[in-house]
Amino acid sequence: MFNLILFGPPGSGKGTQSAKIAEKYGLVHISTGDIFRNEIKQQTELGVKFKSLVEKGELVPDELIIDILDSALHKYQNINGFVFDGFPRTLNQSGELDNLLKKDKESVTLVLALDVNDNEVVTRLLKRAQIEDRKDDSEDVIKNRLQVYKDQTYPLIDLYKKQNKFVGIKGIGSIDEIFGNICGEIDKKV
Ligand code: AMP
Repeated sequence: MFNLILFGPPGSGKGTQSAKIAEKYGLVHISTGDIFRNEIKQQTELGVKFKSLVEKGELVPDELIIDILDSALHKYQNINGFVFDGFPRTLNQSGELDNLLKKDKESVTLVLALDVNDNEVVTRLLKRAQIEDRKDDSEDVIKNRLQVYKDQTYPLIDLYKKQNKFVGIKGIGSIDEIFGNICGEIDKKV
């Protein structure tokens, strides 16, 4: 299986690019943010628990996520692999992902991160706020989400660099241009 992790700060285009990657390479796109937003919308027990954390741009506790991910991974059979969008976000989550994949004799194949500067991210997300009405796209929450990314998720990049799995991708340019660069890296590994 080809298991790709796509990192990047909020607003870097992870969701858009993950969907395109999934389509081109026949992978299953798993977006933990989408899973949580859906739970909140359906007002499930978990959704009610997550709501205020997600709306403040804080991370949902690791132990709640692992179960969700475990069931998401096992929903699919005979697939080419996954694109993980928004997961893992902490060192603990990355260890748990390794454990889950190992159970199926699988591992992370490649880790890409979209590199976009803070000013660009804030501009893009404020624009998205007008279109999608996401509660976590207000200016204060965006700044918090960026800080959470730097504090909790950025350290994972070093981890995957040490495993020789990491490649940075310039996240500024047209969607197709960025997608072309991503495909270039994937094609080296397939
Ligand atoms: P995203 O759409 O990936 O930016 O996720 C939106 C929000 O969902 C985040 O700000 C977190 O509150 C929550 N979230 C998504 N993925 C994770 C994760 N892997 N760990 C913890 N919280 C997450």
